[in-house]
Amino acid sequence: MKFATKAIHAGIEPDPSTGAIMTPIYQTSTYVQESPGRHKGYEYARSSNPTRTALQNALAALENGKYGICYASGLAATDAVLKLFLPGDEIIAPSDIYGGTYRLMKRIFEPLGLVFKFVDIDEIGGLAALITTKTRLVWLETPTNPLLKIIDIKHITGICKERNVLTCVDNTFASPYLQNPLDLGADIVMHSVTKYLGGHSDTVMGALVTSNGELANRLKFIQNASGAVPGPQDCFLVLRGLKTLHLRMQRHCENAAQIAMWLSAHSKVGKVYYPGLPHHPGHELAGKQMRGFGGVVSFELKDDSYEKTVRTMENLRIFALGESLGGVESLCTHPASMSHGGMPREERLKIGLKDTLIRLSVGVEDVEDLVADLDQAIGSD
Ligand SMILES: *Cc1c(COP(=O)(O)O)cnc(C)c1O
Repeated sequence: MKFATKAIHAGIEPDPSTGAIMTPIYQTSTYVQESPGRHKGYEYARSSNPTRTALQNALAALENGKYGICYASGLAATDAVLKLFLPGDEIIAPSDIYGGTYRLMKRIFEPLGLVFKFVDIDEIGGLAALITTKTRLVWLETPTNPLLKIIDIKHITGICKERNVLTCVDNTFASPYLQNPLDLGADIVMHSVTKYLGGHSDTVMGALVTSNGELANRLKFIQNASGAVPGPQDCFLVLRGLKTLHLRMQRHCENAAQIAMWLSAHSKVGKVYYPGLPHHPGHELAGKQMRGFGGVVSFELKDDSYEKTVRTMENLRIFALGESLGGVESLCTHPASMSHGGMPREERLKIGLKDTLIRLSVGVEDVEDLVADLDQAIGSD
């Protein structure tokens, strides 16, 4: 099956009791048993719920994997991956991963004894030198936030396979419509379902997909044992969102490409970061590894002042100022004070993140209106 057909049909069966074409919201905490241990496959809703089962199967299909496991948030999914390891185990990750992932590793799991090595993303290719006999996992995220750097997934998973090290890729920014890390050799794919998969800014959820049965069993065990499960209503909303994932992603990509080109030609705009632009350092790699360049665009103003940046963001009317990305509506964020506010300024500058950087999550509105909004916001002083 091709992608759009899978997005609409995979994992979904008409409801066995009524034939309902949409998977019902099984809003129940428990299931009645005929006699102790004799039941229809469901016992207690933390362990499993039919609405969640349908969603997990759909997500597995979209990532070309065998097993999908959903969690209460993206970070709960990452938390489950990190719980696979024991004190002394080493994990390698790029230094500019999603801030919440870094905080979880540094503040929760490092004190519990896991050993993290953070590498400069531009030197991630040299990661083989960091692998020791204690290395268990390499964590990747590509494209990165907010500078949209691209990591060669196949190259890294190749090195890791030779050394018996697992790889997990945070595929949130690309979505399975644009990139399938399992096909490139990754062991686990992680998603903040909150973003493009849900797509409507109304749900917080996370997911893992793998084709490795043993890993899936351990991750399912953690899902039930730690209990960070999503509720059935949220699973329903994401099942609904998935049905238009391909249509939304097509428009996100088209709109973002047009905006990136328009910004590049604007006299008041400095650097524009978008993997679809030919001068972007990851352009060629993104062209090979992804099926499109995504919906996130970052840019700097030529007027290098914090005040002008803030005023530009305040002037925007259609782009709403807020954290998150991947919804149908356009959003803008100021990474230096929002997502990366916790990072010391020196370190931010070291990774190339200026105080004047603006990140756009380009929505699926009419692109002419989005361009006009940016034009009036950048143009006015
Ligand atoms: C939002 C996000 C997360 C965290 O997901 P939550 O659903 O907010 O817990 C992880 N990685 C990336 C790239 C994200 O954008």
